[in-house]
Amino acid sequence: MPELVLPDRLRGVEPVRSIRTPARLDYEFTAGRATSRFLRGVAEKRLLGQRCPVCRKVYVPPRGACPTDGVPTEEEVELGHTGTVTTFCVVNVQFYGQAMELPYVSALILLDGSDLPIMHLLQEVSADDVHMGMRVEAVWVPDDEIEPTLESIRYFRPNGEPDAPWDSYKDNV
Ligand SMILES: [Zn+2]
Repeated sequence: MPELVLPDRLRGVEPVRSIRTPARLDYEFTAGRATSRFLRGVAEKRLLGQRCPVCRKVYVPPRGACPTDGVPTEEEVELGHTGTVTTFCVVNVQFYGQAMELPYVSALILLDGSDLPIMHLLQEVSADDVHMGMRVEAVWVPDDEIEPTLESIRYFRPNGEPDAPWDSYKDNV
């Protein structure tokens, strides 16, 4: 292999080892039957889970089958718009494309009547005040902006109820 001969002006210059290139991926998501029913419910401002006939757990968003028992989950259960914070994360790191003001809180919220927490934003509360067991409620976008997406819930906020007891959500942490 011939030896690379650098011009004088490049002697001592650090070689390029990496470059950054903006990338963009367009994709379409096919929701499937169970998630489609859930998203159509959201478009009507309803939160619909599905109950497993064996273990009785209610999954939201439903996937159409219980991952534990491997059976279809066909019984539909309408859930409340309130829930309990099981765990949460305070985001302090700026990243590309971020729309939220720092710090903000992303939380796992166990909707009342369900057995699987959903991830969503917490707002109208200082990050320092967020804690496990906090009771919260959904804040929806205006009715004429509701679409079949979880973004139709703008965020959750504390609803003023006393904290949920640990036993009520310990299996979902
Ligand atoms: Zn099950």
